Amino acid sequence: MLFPITQINSNLRQIEEIPNTFFQKIQANAVFGYDLFPDWFQEFYGNRTDGLYNKANILFDIIKNSGNEPRIVEGYINSINIESHCLNLSSYLFYCETISQELFEAANDFFSHLFDSFDKKWVTDKTQTNVLKYIKEFKEQNKVFVCPICGNEKIKSSQHEARAALDHWLCKAKYPFSAVNWNNLFPLGEGCNRPPVKGQNEVIWIDNNRLARHSFFYPFNWLGEIEISLECIEEPSIDSLIKGSWKFNFLGINDLHQNLIDKWDIFFGINNRWIDETLNEFIDTWTFTFANYLTQEINFEDFEVRYDEKLISFRNARNSFNVNPQNRVEWFFLNYLINEASASFYNGSKQSVREHLE
Ligand SMILES: [Zn+2]
Repeated sequence: MLFPITQINSNLRQIEEIPNTFFQKIQANAVFGYDLFPDWFQEFYGNRTDGLYNKANILFDIIKNSGNEPRIVEGYINSINIESHCLNLSSYLFYCETISQELFEAANDFFSHLFDSFDKKWVTDKTQTNVLKYIKEFKEQNKVFVCPICGNEKIKSSQHEARAALDHWLCKAKYPFSAVNWNNLFPLGEGCNRPPVKGQNEVIWIDNNRLARHSFFYPFNWLGEIEISLECIEEPSIDSLIKGSWKFNFLGINDLHQNLIDKWDIFFGINNRWIDETLNEFIDTWTFTFANYLTQEINFEDFEVRYDEKLISFRNARNSFNVNPQNRVEWFFLNYLINEASASFYNGSKQSVREHLE
């Protein structure tokens, strides 16, 4: 929504070949074996019959005994069209549990294990890359170094947190067939990813009861720039006793865009999180930060003549919306202060900055 992002090519995508080959070959194979996997699998997985191999075997048996083999294969093939599931209300969705709970559990088990393999040695040996490197490349190629959904937090990317930052747009607990689908994966910040924000909530249904479909934006589908503005409903008091009341407005380029923007804002709590997590905190502290900035920029005797000019520079320095998570919210607040604030709020803030310097 906020940034035009595209999925990048990574060798990690090769892991998709495992379920793709399995579902391509299953109908022609009466007996389970390594020939249901890509050619390279046995060499890298290590000729083992436990773990992932065993989970595939269980899934194989259940599919063979289900009496619904073609339907399940078709379901897998359709599970790949994530963009279509988001934007096309009549796309074909397949749920394993409609065949049997047993199928759902076996699929869940196999695909979860497959997803967990992203950082396993045999996958690293095959792909010559890992999730940490993928996240770094994703940021660099997209030139977006913050959470691509809210733009207001970092993407965790330490060695131990990398895979946790890899989000399933259609969550893997409900859509196991899409768990390693490269179209369904991308790095997401923790605040957007964790419950109750996204968690295992449905994105393509109006709620978790799946009563009705609705369209929802697809992260790699860019519909245009959102025009953002910050509206002040009530100004805070200088002594911070009154918090102030604010609202970010998000304006799309047409009705379709606006509809998807409104759902993005509500689902991810964008407006509320920008205000609660960033704006209110900044309002409480910015006069100190600005006073510190001024001590490096001007002499105290120039305070009166150079305050306005330096406030504009202070705002303009917050222009890396794609790099520093809180910059955007801070920029909008300072911009409000410069262009729209009441004289009493503007002068009260100025007085407080002056007091920090004295
Ligand atoms: Zn986020």
